Amino acid sequence: MPLPRRLSRELPERDGESVRIAGHLEEYRALGGVAFALVRDGSGTTQVTLKKGTTDPALFATLEGLARESVVEVEGTVSRSTKSRRGVELLPSRLEILSVAEVPLPLGVVDRVPAELNVRLDHRILDLRKPAVRAVFELRAELLAGFRAAFARRGFLEVETPKLLRQGAEGGATLFAVDYFGAPAFLAQSPQLYKQMLIAAGLERVFEIAPAFRAEPSDTVRHITEFASLDAEVGYVTDPEEIRALLEGIVVDAVAATREALLRSANPLASGIPELHPPFPRIPFATAAAALGRGLDDDFGTDEEKAIGERAEREHGSPFYFVTDYPSAVKAGTFYAWRRDDDPSRTGYFDLGFRGLEIASGGRREHRLDRLQENMRRAGVDPARFASYLEGFRFGMPPHGGWGLGVDRLVQGLAGLPNIREARLFPRDRYRLEP
Ligand code: ATP
Ligand code: MG
Repeated sequence: MPLPRRLSRELPERDGESVRIAGHLEEYRALGGVAFALVRDGSGTTQVTLKKGTTDPALFATLEGLARESVVEVEGTVSRSTKSRRGVELLPSRLEILSVAEVPLPLGVVDRVPAELNVRLDHRILDLRKPAVRAVFELRAELLAGFRAAFARRGFLEVETPKLLRQGAEGGATLFAVDYFGAPAFLAQSPQLYKQMLIAAGLERVFEIAPAFRAEPSDTVRHITEFASLDAEVGYVTDPEEIRALLEGIVVDAVAATREALLRSANPLASGIPELHPPFPRIPFATAAAALGRGLDDDFGTDEEKAIGERAEREHGSPFYFVTDYPSAVKAGTFYAWRRDDDPSRTGYFDLGFRGLEIASGGRREHRLDRLQENMRRAGVDPARFASYLEGFRFGMPPHGGWGLGVDRLVQGLAGLPNIREARLFPRDRYRLEP
């Protein structure tokens, strides 16, 4: 008999077969002549039906009084049944207890009353047993697979860059310092400098999906201290629109693949994933700022981003939108951003938003060493501290650009989660390092 792996979902197609399932005991109910045990495995829940007169009486005794969430293994025959939830039930011939759960559970798995997020995260392994929570991570896995396929189709190479650094890419405020054998080092905030170095290395099209660390002191529903960053860098692009078009195509492909996969697996989140109709609207920063009646000196705040998102949805019918042509003043600290030659007050930078949430930032980078060093000095960064990064620019650097996209934020948006923490298995924030 095959190993009892994620079988629940397949049982409707296995009528009459002998199978072995294993999982957590969700519920056990004895009603006179029959008893029902609901057993949840990695793919769903199976109803195990015990019938007086047919089922071995010892099996009733085994399940009677067994604590919820204990782990059981059940062998039996699959049988169609109109009375059970999924149209199929398992008539058991053998039953084994693999692990007994303690009582009481610190977090109910099938409770109707929703628990507070903090309690859920404190007991995340129990929380993750809920099918609705697991559905988020199935979405996440399909999205990542969709991205990888979309990058592969466009000739990108998947890379991994170091997360332990001597220098951060930008200002020190959000850097985590670590003690590196007695010397200071930092956790990477972004793979920015390394992916540019790979363009200098001639790799031309690279992407990376890896953790990025930011010491975000603010407690918001869209910031965490460890997030998955999906970064791409592309050589030989000069017009920021080429970068946007690539990002747009990759997002459209990945989201469509996710939607299809979730529809196939009957994931309840499938219906919430929008069907996209590119092109996404392109809204110049100055236009968005004018509509909000504000200036061009600093980046949009949370409420302004929401208003821009609502407008994009209302006027263009699109959940995704680009905010383009970021002013140089707003990107002053971003020394690697290219400033337009015809108008140095504007960069070739843009944000990608989804329903009022910033999902990605990107643009054309400055590939000319002299201008890059000038931008560094203006940003108060000493070029001497970045010698190995700058080496890439000294020995032949193609014009290039790219983006960084927050995977957790996109999962949050696509799954309609109020808090980004729910998009990660074990989120980290200012107050949480466990579990
Ligand atoms: P924000 O302004 O929202 O704090 P940012 O502009 O500082 O974000 P970028 O440096 O542009 O962030 O990083 C690229 C993407 O990474 C962002 O668009 C976002 O999706 C994601 N991201 C950045 N910081 C965080 C964080 N602390 N938690 C989760 N995702 C993040
Ligand atoms: Mg940004």
